[in-house]
Amino acid sequence: APHRVVDVHELLDSTLLMLSGKIGPRVRVVKEYDRSVPDVPAYPAELNQVWTNLIDNAVFAIGSTGRDGTLTVRTAREGDRLLVEFRDTGPGIPADIRSRIFDPFFTTKPVGEGTGLGLDISWRIVVNKHHGSLQVESAPGDTRFQVLLPLTAPEP
Ligand code: ADP
Ligand code: MG
Repeated sequence: APHRVVDVHELLDSTLLMLSGKIGPRVRVVKEYDRSVPDVPAYPAELNQVWTNLIDNAVFAIGSTGRDGTLTVRTAREGDRLLVEFRDTGPGIPADIRSRIFDPFFTTKPVGEGTGLGLDISWRIVVNKHHGSLQVESAPGDTRFQVLLPLTAPEP
């Protein structure tokens, strides 16, 4: 199917609504949307999968602290690309596993709780399908996954 022209905030809001039961009362969701960013040519069902994976990871990370936390979803225009950032106040990603988190089947979660495929799939959707990039920055209490999508149409 061809790409569509997507209102990224509408897509984020629908994903957040879909996940509201899972997000739960201990995670405060803060939206830092730059409403001036243009619509983006994209595959909405696939991007919904990416948002779902990143939000699920953030909620799990916050939950693992045993305390309340915050998930911040931020958008911004960066030159000819759209940034969508998911930031959580979870424990952070230990330096010794950071190079492996995008590997298929890599997970630190208990058996049955994680497949280790979320970031692998997200990477393929963002990088291969949208010609974007997926980056991570992490410190204890501050982990950010950054999706950058070209504002020009992806090739099929
Ligand atoms: P899964 O969620 O099934 O474990 P993913 O590919 O989504 O698989 O993530 C792989 C691993 O990366 C996780 O098991 C975890 O160790 C780490 N990770 C991903 N997101 C976060 C995050 N927001 N905070 C801390 N660790 C994370
Ligand atoms: Mg995951």
